Amino acid sequence: MRPIGLFGGTFDPIHLGHLRTAFELWQALKLTEVRFLPTGSPPHREPPLASAEQRLAMVRAAVKDEPAFVVDDREVRRSGFSYSVDTLTELRQEFPNRSLCLLLGMDAFIGLPNWHRWREIFDLAHVVVAHRPGWKAPTMGPLGEVMVDRGTGSVRDLHEQPAGRIYIHAGTQLEISSTDLRQLLVNGEDPRYLVPDEVRRIIAETGCYARRDHRS
Ligand code: ATP
Repeated sequence: MRPIGLFGGTFDPIHLGHLRTAFELWQALKLTEVRFLPTGSPPHREPPLASAEQRLAMVRAAVKDEPAFVVDDREVRRSGFSYSVDTLTELRQEFPNRSLCLLLGMDAFIGLPNWHRWREIFDLAHVVVAHRPGWKAPTMGPLGEVMVDRGTGSVRDLHEQPAGRIYIHAGTQLEISSTDLRQLLVNGEDPRYLVPDEVRRIIAETGCYARRDHRS
């Protein structure tokens, strides 16, 4: 059975950098699906500008034309912080023998040692890392060490084992980030061609990134 890709994020908002990366990984790793998991309350960062419901609606709209992309709203429904290790533990119970691939951009991978119980993640899933402009793979420190122990260049390993390997993928690197998009939107600029048209429409209709007087 082919692996399931798990793509978590704040998605504040989802953009074409996320979608192209997910699509390339789906193809390159021969994943059965990519499951998008918008986070409820992210533990490692400022609260999102858009509400969890708005972010979820944008993710649903963004993936609706790609059958290989599915949305899993469990972290949005959960109260309190969303820890990846808890989500992966749940998914591992649902798919006891299946290969699970946690998909991360290089920036997120570099932050991994700050995640709650991060070493346990390798007992639950593989970690697949997509290059991102401006970020280099770690060669030292705790991540450098785990890469020596767990790194693989073989997609076959990701299919034959259920968890535990690290695979770095060099695909198209799009220099789009949600941070830059939020800034552009607060400035009243148009996000066209950086986000799917449906997402652009939701942003315009809800005004979820409009400048708020108390912030200016
Ligand atoms: P922010 O700028 O608000 O931190 P972001 O653009 O990094 O947002 P997130 O929702 O935080 O988006 O990221 C979800 C996942 O997608 C992370 O693993 C991140 O590394 C990855 N990711 C985000 N943008 C890109 C991109 N342009 N290319 C590849 N991976 C990306």
